[in-house]
Amino acid sequence: MLEKISIRHKLAILLGLSAALALLISSAATIYSTYLSESRASLRVLHQLTDVISENMRAALAFNDGDSARKILSSLQADPHILYAVVSDDRGQPLGEYRSAQLPAAQEDWFRRHLQNNINGNKELLRREDSSTQHMDSHSMGVLRPIFFEGKPIGTLAIISDTEQLWARIQEFVLMQMGVSLLALLTLMLLSFKLQSLFTRPIMGLIDAMQQVARTKDYRTTLESRRQDEFGNLYAGFNAMLADIRERDERLSRLATTDSLTGLANHHLAMETMQNMIIRAQRKGEPLGVIMLDIDFFKAVNDRYGHPVGDRVLQEIAQVLQACAREYDLVARLGGEEFLVLCDGGTREITVAVAERIRSGIEQHAIEYQPGQFLQVTVSLGVHASVPLSAEQPLATMIKAADAALYRAKAGGRNCHVLA
Ligand code: GH3
Ligand code: MG
Ligand code: MG
Repeated sequence: MLEKISIRHKLAILLGLSAALALLISSAATIYSTYLSESRASLRVLHQLTDVISENMRAALAFNDGDSARKILSSLQADPHILYAVVSDDRGQPLGEYRSAQLPAAQEDWFRRHLQNNINGNKELLRREDSSTQHMDSHSMGVLRPIFFEGKPIGTLAIISDTEQLWARIQEFVLMQMGVSLLALLTLMLLSFKLQSLFTRPIMGLIDAMQQVARTKDYRTTLESRRQDEFGNLYAGFNAMLADIRERDERLSRLATTDSLTGLANHHLAMETMQNMIIRAQRKGEPLGVIMLDIDFFKAVNDRYGHPVGDRVLQEIAQVLQACAREYDLVARLGGEEFLVLCDGGTREITVAVAERIRSGIEQHAIEYQPGQFLQVTVSLGVHASVPLSAEQPLATMIKAADAALYRAKAGGRNCHVLA
């Protein structure tokens, strides 16, 4: 499953999820601490209200004046969130009560029992001045405190309010927090999409280059990178690998197409080139000149001077051939001491002129086989020049004609050329 997702998406998801998780944790922590501080603030307000009412209630309690007590408590209706309040004497008997119009009877009952339990359970505590108890649940919060007169506890006051305001404030904060988080998350997602490209772009570049090389087999491709990081190393490694392949390719193709002794084109390349030249000449209606040449009495050179000198002669003949041929002619060693010169666009006149230049060039060329000692050889040449008539006049026909002419040149006394 994960393998199917592209590395770009994986990175974007990873970055996005990390951002979302960090936001979630920080939001939860912020919301919780806001809940704590808001509920503390709400209770503090309720404590302050209880302080004020109990101050006013002191006389009513001291004189057991229920009317006054109820009157004082009725001022609480100014705050719609106060649900219930009761003032009790030192025996726990209610002297006055206030209940909000919205308070259901069942809940009032529950408050009454809860407060009674609270007063009974905290008897010792409520005998101390400035002491109080408080409670808070999801629906209500309340404060219970003793009232003192001349240093003696004379009763208690309890006020219970709803938690609507608290929840409204928290809800407002949560909504705002969610809005901010969502905005931050969107920004981070966008950013993570941008950031992932920092990592994936170089990888994609490498993959593209590899695919291109695989498709085109063009090993000249190089990846441009000024990066100093691991991707830079990767690119440099890739370029070095391609350079190695390129170099090996060139070496192999050189080996496959050139003659190692003379550096000339070998038989294979000569035939391939000639085939292309024939096709081109045919299309353009131009002639192609073919010269076949063979060293005269070369066996005798080997016999007399030794094989290494024979090799040296072959190398020097190759140089003379290249010097005598035109720039765009192909000079090849067909094998042994037999050579081929292909004159692109070579008419009879041109080809014969090249052949004659070669013949006299070799005849006049002195080969120093030992310091101060020279030998000379001659060559016989068969010349054939024609406009290839059709694809049916193939390479073999032209070679054969030149070869036959060469044979006649040998028979005719050597060191000459014969036109087919
Ligand atoms: P012709 O005038 O009739 O051509 O006489 P030739 O002696 O040149 O005739 P032949 O074709 O019989 O002899 C060719 C010789 O070339 C035989 C062989 O020893 C020699 N040869 C072929 N390849 C090489 C080579 O690579 N190096 C050397 N040194 N000799 C070679
Ligand atoms: Mg020969
Ligand atoms: Mg020969």
